[in-house]
Amino acid sequence: MPIERLRNYIGGEWVDSDASESYPVTNPATGKVIGQCPLSTTAELDAAVDAADTAFQTWRRVPAQDRIQHLFRLKTLLDEHAKELAAIVTRENGKTLSEALGSVMRGIQMIEVATGAPTLLMGQALEDISSGIDCESVRQPMGVFACIAPFNFPAMVPMWFFPFAVACGNTFVCKPSEQVPFSQKLIWELIHEAGFPPGVLNLINGGREVVESICAHPLIAGVSFVGSSPVAEKVYASAAATRKRVQALGGAKNFIIVMPDADMALTTNSVSESAFGCAGERCLAASIVLTVGDSHDAVRDGLAQHMREIVIGDGSQPGITMGPLINAASKQRVLDYIDLGVSEGAELVIDGRSAKVPDQGFFVGPTLFDGVNSDMKIATEEIFGPVLCLQSVDSLDEALAITKAQPLANANSIFTTSGKSARQFRYEIDASMAGVNIGVAAPMSFFSFGGAKGSFFGDLKAHGREAFDFYTDRKVLISRW
Ligand code: NAD
Repeated sequence: MPIERLRNYIGGEWVDSDASESYPVTNPATGKVIGQCPLSTTAELDAAVDAADTAFQTWRRVPAQDRIQHLFRLKTLLDEHAKELAAIVTRENGKTLSEALGSVMRGIQMIEVATGAPTLLMGQALEDISSGIDCESVRQPMGVFACIAPFNFPAMVPMWFFPFAVACGNTFVCKPSEQVPFSQKLIWELIHEAGFPPGVLNLINGGREVVESICAHPLIAGVSFVGSSPVAEKVYASAAATRKRVQALGGAKNFIIVMPDADMALTTNSVSESAFGCAGERCLAASIVLTVGDSHDAVRDGLAQHMREIVIGDGSQPGITMGPLINAASKQRVLDYIDLGVSEGAELVIDGRSAKVPDQGFFVGPTLFDGVNSDMKIATEEIFGPVLCLQSVDSLDEALAITKAQPLANANSIFTTSGKSARQFRYEIDASMAGVNIGVAAPMSFFSFGGAKGSFFGDLKAHGREAFDFYTDRKVLISRW
C-alpha cells in the first residue's frame, strides 16, 4: 500500500500541500513509516487564516444557540467513531488502546462543556449606574484563533480549544504535531460531516515554519500552545509581541509527596499508574516521589511490585499495559537520562534498559531510581519517559521547600490520611494542578487546565469557564435614553 501523504483542510475543502518537505510519521510500536506529514508553508497557513477570517464575518453573527447545533452533531459523530479514533491514536502515538480511548472521551467532554455557550457567554447588566444611565457588559468573539499541539495526546489536546473557540463565535486554525497528524485528520473529516460552514474550522499540517507564521500573523487574534517549555516560552513571546492573546502550556516535573500516614496500597498503585501510564509521556505524570520520614521503604517496595506487573508491548494488543515512546530520539533521550542518573550516583533499583521489550519499536522499560537528591539533573529536569525517582526527606516542610525551588510547576500531589498535612500542601504548593491522594491531578473539562511558573506562559488557562474568558473580549456599554 502506498504511504499516505496528509492534506490540509482549508475553507471547507481538503487540499494537497505544496510543501517540498514532509515528516515521516511512524508507528512507535513497529518503527515503520505509516504516513508523510507535509511541512506546510507560510503561504498555506495564510490561505487557512484568510478562509477563517472570511468565515468569521458571518459565523460571529450566527446565534450561539445555532452555532452549538454543529457541536452537538460533531459530538454524536465522535461518539460513534471513538473506538476508531482511539485505534488511530494508538497507531501513531503508541499509548495503549484503553489509554487512547480514555483520552478521546476526555476530548469529547470538552464539546459537552462548550455547548453551554448560550449560558456561559452571558454578560452582566446594572440599571442606574447613575441616574437614568444603564450599564451592561457583553462578551464578543475576537476573530481567528489558532492552536499548536504536542505529540502526546494527538486527539484530545486540540479539543481543549476549538470547541470553545467556535462556540464563542470565533473561527479556528489547528496545527497538530507533525509526529501524530492522523487523529486530527479523522476529527476534521467528522467536522466536515457535521456541516460546519466552510472556513470556521481549518487544519494545517506542519512544523516550525507554520508555528512561526501563526505567531506573526496579523489576522490571528489568539494562540493556544501545548508542548515543551522552551517552545512555549518562545511562542508566548513572539505571539504576544504581535498583540495576540496567548496561553502557552509547557513542560513538567511533577513531584509526589508521600507522608508516613499514607494508605500505602492506594499510594503505590496511584503513583505507579501516574509514572508509567502513557509510558510517562504525560505532562501530569509523576516524575519524582519525595518520601517523608519512614514512608520510604513501603513506597519503594510497593512501587517495585507494581512495576513488575507492567506488560510492555504494542498498545494495540490486548493485555498490554505500557506502550513504546514516540520515536527513536525520545527513546535515546530517556536511555541517556538513565545513564546520567547512574553517573550522578543514584541507585538504579529497576533498570528499564534491561526490560524484556519487543525487538522493533521505541520501547524502554519502567525504571526506578532511589537515593536521588536535589543536585541531580534526574531530580530536576523533565525526562518525559517511564523513569521515576525516589528522594527521602525528613518532613513535609522540607518536601514543600524542594518543590518550591523547582522552575516547573505543573501538577503535584500529596498522599496522606492527615487533613492537616493535606491542608498545608494545598495551601502552599506552587503547582496550579494539585492532587490529594490522586496520582494524576487532571482537571476535567468544566475546570481549567494549566500549570504555573515555567510550566505556563499566559494568564487564562485552557478549558472550563476560563475558556470563555480566553475566547471573548468584554465590551462595556453605557446608555442614557
Ligand atoms: P514540542 O514543544 O517539541 O512541540 C509542540 C509543538 O510545537 C508541535 O506542534 C511542534 O511542531 C512545534 N514545535 C516544536 N519545536 C518547535 C520550534 N523550535 N519552533 C516552533 N515550533 C516548534 O513538544 P512535544 O515533544 O510535541 O510534546 C511534549 C512536551 O509537551 C512535554 O514537554 C510535555 O510536558 C508537554 N505537554 C504539556 C502539556 C500541558 O498541559 N502543560 C500537555 C501535553 C504535553
